[in-house]
Amino acid sequence: MKPGTLLALNWKMNKTPTEARAWAEELKEKYAPAEGVELAVMAPALDLSALAANLPAGVAFGGQDVSAHESGAYTGEISAGMLKDTGATYVVVGHSERREYHGETDAVVAAKARQAQAYGLTPIVCVGEGLEVREKGEHVAYTLKQLEGSLENVGPDVVIAYEPVWAIGTGKTATADDAEELAAAIRDALTERYGHNADGIRVLYGGSVKPENIAQLCGKANVNGALVGGASLKVTDVLGMNEAL
Ligand code: PEP
Repeated sequence: MKPGTLLALNWKMNKTPTEARAWAEELKEKYAPAEGVELAVMAPALDLSALAANLPAGVAFGGQDVSAHESGAYTGEISAGMLKDTGATYVVVGHSERREYHGETDAVVAAKARQAQAYGLTPIVCVGEGLEVREKGEHVAYTLKQLEGSLENVGPDVVIAYEPVWAIGTGKTATADDAEELAAAIRDALTERYGHNADGIRVLYGGSVKPENIAQLCGKANVNGALVGGASLKVTDVLGMNEAL
């Protein structure tokens, strides 16, 4: 059975708490849940309290990163316990921007995912190849290896986001068949790792998803939703994607 669909928004480093509140209030005014679709907003940590207070009922939220450590002398980091205390239920780990700009390895990503799970947060683990790897035709092997390292000792309460780096924020979207190729390979790897416990794991596609292309991408058998950056900032785009699913 296909797991339910997750429309996960990644605001990246956008929106002050005041702007987050206005966004959530606008969503509350206009949002109608789509059957079988869960909506979740991944926001800067400072925005989470505003989301907790103002999002419509049933809309989830979470962070964009979490420390691998419990607490203590890690200046600037946000712990899983802090995220949980805001009411967050998800956290993105291993986004390609964190891997690239903050040197996060698969081992670090796995440690963060484990720490999130220790607090009952569901990690959204991001994987995906760069352009060079894709051009060499090594995208499946590369992504599966990254997945394996990023899930070391991580339990099955995860979401996986396949995000080819060349499609993130570039306007270049993978074709629905490209997305399905990797989603199916990821699904097989998850089944090998978790057995039947993998059945409920959602595998998302991310990379320049918008209202015009989301239905086609998420219509594929193994694609269970999307992780959306640019098109998550305007409520009208989010409503368009929610309706299209
Ligand atoms: C992302 O930030 O994970 C993402 C997929 O961004 P965009 O939708 O802008 O490509």
